[in-house]
Amino acid sequence: MAEFTMELNDDQKQVRDWIHGFAADVMRPAAAEWDEREETPWPVIQEAAKVGIYSLDFYAQQFFDPTGLGIPMAMEELFWGDAGIALSIVGTGLAAIGVVANGTEEQIGTWIPQMYGTPDDVKVAAFCSSEPDAGSDVGSMRTRAVYDRAKDEWVLNGTKTWATNGGIANVHIVVAVVDPELGTKGHASFIVPPNTPGLSQGQKFKKHGIRASHTAEVVLEDVRIPGSCLLGGKEKLDERLARAHERARSGGGERVKNAAMATFEASRPAVGAMAVGTARAAYEVALDYAKTRTQFGRPIIDNQGVAFQLADMRTQIDAARLLVWRASWMAVAGRPFESAEGSMSKLFASEVAKKVTAQAVQILGGNGFTREYPVERMHRDSAIYTIFEGTSEIQRLVIARTISGMPIR
Ligand SMILES: Cc1cc2nc3c(=O)[nH]c(=O)nc-3n(C[C@H](O)[C@H](O)[C@H](O)COP(=O)(O)OP(=O)(O)OC[C@H]3O[C@@H](n4cnc5c(N)ncnc54)[C@H](O)[C@@H]3O)c2cc1C
Repeated sequence: MAEFTMELNDDQKQVRDWIHGFAADVMRPAAAEWDEREETPWPVIQEAAKVGIYSLDFYAQQFFDPTGLGIPMAMEELFWGDAGIALSIVGTGLAAIGVVANGTEEQIGTWIPQMYGTPDDVKVAAFCSSEPDAGSDVGSMRTRAVYDRAKDEWVLNGTKTWATNGGIANVHIVVAVVDPELGTKGHASFIVPPNTPGLSQGQKFKKHGIRASHTAEVVLEDVRIPGSCLLGGKEKLDERLARAHERARSGGGERVKNAAMATFEASRPAVGAMAVGTARAAYEVALDYAKTRTQFGRPIIDNQGVAFQLADMRTQIDAARLLVWRASWMAVAGRPFESAEGSMSKLFASEVAKKVTAQAVQILGGNGFTREYPVERMHRDSAIYTIFEGTSEIQRLVIARTISGMPIR
């Protein structure tokens, strides 16, 4: 019988320590500067590329860790370093994984290297799904992809919003409607190659947190791309659409819906791990501060009111990590997410990050409210986790529907 262990193996510990070293030595010292500049930290990405952290290989190695803990471990350490810079580093990976998961061998070989560039000339990639009228409600997507059979080209039109690396990416992955009758099942993903005419950056958002990560609108005006840029290829798409029409006619859509749900359940723990990283970072600063700041002749941690907060912070962080690890393990072990455990982990960890970073600001008093100390930035950064990759309300909706089997609205 397999031995049960909660310990990372030696290889995992080595990787974790290596990433932690990069986060501590390269990301942390650069965090405040790039937050103020509100710009993509190209030199830090380049540094990550040089040591091998910014590469598909790195991402793939963590992704294929048989215990499932490679990705959450990497995310926690990078986001412990700094959330904005970390998102700039992993944003490309999120787009690349879409190509690896759904693309053909040829698409993977052609486009992934162009997403990352080289350590001397780094590039980034963007994943563009959200639209001004289609955030939580993905089914309201309007961006259209129409096939021009004569030229074997797809023509994309629409406006994407909130795209991480949108407009500055070398390669954009764009989700668009190919069959409006089928709702979300009529969506497909496309690769927009570098310098394609018609794709432009709309407004770049000035944000509350993760300001080192570039977020912008992407406008698509008669963007023509070769037929070969449809992820997975036309044959596979036609088969999928035919099956969806057949199911719609026969009244069964459950299996397709469950397949999409399973994908989200497997990817959400990664966002939970990011939140754990930010929460842990703020907790560590608060713990150190509480032990050294003296008021009324003793360290402030000598007050139960402060010490108990730290005890709760640590307990919640560890609980969040356990939910993330459970869901990540379930994903690789092929266990069904019968209670939406992936969504649970994202919901809990993201709420914990918001709470813990707010408590850290409080424990640092006036200093916590200034940019002299990092908890102010961590508190702003943490607000993103309850919003992207499905808001907390959407996670609750998914969990409630899954545990009840009811169509809760
Ligand atoms: C910094 C940042 C980076 C992002 N990066 C990307 C990216 O790279 N690619 C991409 O495609 N998208 C990206 N997003 C978009 C992100 O996924 C969306 O913002 C998110 O899905 C929420 O959509 P929305 O902003 O339109 O909010 P809305 O859907 O309008 O929601 C507004 C509020 O209403 C609530 N609400 C909505 N529906 C319900 C319901 N049925 N029940 C209860 N409450 C509900 C929500 O929970 C929320 O509180 C990013 C967003 C941000 C802010």
